[in-house]
Amino acid sequence: MDQYNRVILKLSGEALAGEQGYGIDPNVIQSIATQIKEIVELGAEVAVVVGGGNIWRGLAGSAEGMDRATADYMGMLATVMNSLALQDSLEDNEVETRVQTSIEMRQVAEPYIRRKAIRHLEKKRVVIFAGGTGNPYFSTDTTAALRAAEIEAEVILMAKNRVDGVYDADPSYDVDAKKYHQLTYLDLLNSSLNVMDSTASTLCMDNNIPLLVFSIMEEGNIKKAVLGEDIGTVIRGKE
Ligand code: UDP
Repeated sequence: MDQYNRVILKLSGEALAGEQGYGIDPNVIQSIATQIKEIVELGAEVAVVVGGGNIWRGLAGSAEGMDRATADYMGMLATVMNSLALQDSLEDNEVETRVQTSIEMRQVAEPYIRRKAIRHLEKKRVVIFAGGTGNPYFSTDTTAALRAAEIEAEVILMAKNRVDGVYDADPSYDVDAKKYHQLTYLDLLNSSLNVMDSTASTLCMDNNIPLLVFSIMEEGNIKKAVLGEDIGTVIRGKE
């Protein structure tokens, strides 16, 4: 398998939280930044979509009685905080980085402009897409699918901090859980496999964007993923 040239790396907020399960763990973010630096050095064009679940999840807020759209906007702001933390860490490692937000906040970051994002990527700058899609009722997984389609990324690399692929049961509770090597988006849509929400899966399926689910807890795995090595679980439009 050849190396991917343009990728979207999806980091959940949880992945930045490390062991503590909330907030941002400086050691974890440092490790992720070092791993991203490795793939930039391979010549890959890297865009990152960061989640916000380590700080705030819209659904949790709305379950507590808050208006869903308001709670979702708070979630989008949480992704901006994570994105700035990641940018800071990348720049500490001398990786040129731009944050683009889907909701304008010009004093903090550039607004999302597709053609500008592509230009940054061509100049080998890491582009972090913050603020999700900018719309409530969506997720950052859907953001990764949308931006992947827009910038014509070859693959979405979905980095997990608890599992190293997709299993038929939760491997932390079930010792017999079996890891899938390959799946289709229809498999995800027709089952209760909790990989990404159905909006994100459908967008990936309709636009033929492959997804690789793998673990970032093992250092060097992002590089392996970009090199097309056989790690994790691959999800495609067709078998
Ligand atoms: N969110 C949203 N629209 C988007 C992306 C995110 O409303 O396009 C909100 C939503 O409330 C979500 C929160 O931002 O719960 C954090 O994003 P997500 O849950 O996808 O983060 P992750 O699970 O990857 O940490």
